[in-house]
Amino acid sequence: MDIRFNGKVVLITGGSSGIGAATAIEFARSGASVVVNYNATPSGAAAVVAEIQSLGGNALAIQADVTDAAQVDRLVRQSLDHFGRIDILFNNAGTLVERKLLADTSEELFRKIVDVNFTSTFLCCQAVVPHMKMRGYGRIINMASVAARNGGGRGAGHYAATKAAVLTLTKAFAKELAGSGIQVNAVAPGVIATRYHERFSTTELREQFKSAIPLAREGKPEEIAYVVLFLASEFADYILGETIEINGGMLME
Ligand code: NAP
Repeated sequence: MDIRFNGKVVLITGGSSGIGAATAIEFARSGASVVVNYNATPSGAAAVVAEIQSLGGNALAIQADVTDAAQVDRLVRQSLDHFGRIDILFNNAGTLVERKLLADTSEELFRKIVDVNFTSTFLCCQAVVPHMKMRGYGRIINMASVAARNGGGRGAGHYAATKAAVLTLTKAFAKELAGSGIQVNAVAPGVIATRYHERFSTTELREQFKSAIPLAREGKPEEIAYVVLFLASEFADYILGETIEINGGMLME
């Protein structure tokens, strides 16, 4: 099985760090041109673009806050102006914002989490799908989480709920778009060693997570990237509305 994306263009939201950055690099290694979207970390996006260029690939960094419809429209327009097409959309951008229990979760925090993880996915799909429909081809991969299925770690209930919403949106859009050449699937990582846990999880909590993982380690960002590439490839042509769990055995269903 030789997965190649020569001539294809991938738009990755949140490509400036962690899983998005690793996926951008893996797509480029496999021949795709990559739009590396970022919001607040231009240095991260620039480093990813530089690495892709050093591999002989094509990449473009575009700043856009994907919670904002006008910025998402501009992101898609600039991507099309530069590369002429978008074949694959990886709705990866997201974050926990802050760990908070129910009593301490402000309405503002709740809305922020919904916007960054869930509304962003809807907005990016809505902006890219007309172009994909016109060309009769598209692959969309959404970012869920093991939290969608187990309710999340302590203080991450709001986050877990947004990821469950992403999972359901994946099924709904997959059904709606089936037959138009566009396939929608999702990935649901467990505990992956990225800036996310550096920011939001104490060493103690990370140890607790690890003790619940049969493989007894955190995942690496590339281990998510490989599955995203598979879902975007022709080898996954009969997979639709599916969420693939990648969690070292943390959750088996
Ligand atoms: P990360 O290293 O913190 O990366 C988060 C990415 O999202 C960054 O590139 C960030 O860009 C981007 N982002 C955040 N808000 C944005 C916005 N409003 N507009 C555009 N981009 C935005 O964390 P990660 O672990 O790679 O997380 C990537 C995705 O995987 C997230 O959706 C996360 O929920 C999900 N996930 C992670 C884990 C895990 O254990 N790490 C597990 C399950 C699911 P800037 O820094 O440029 O703002």
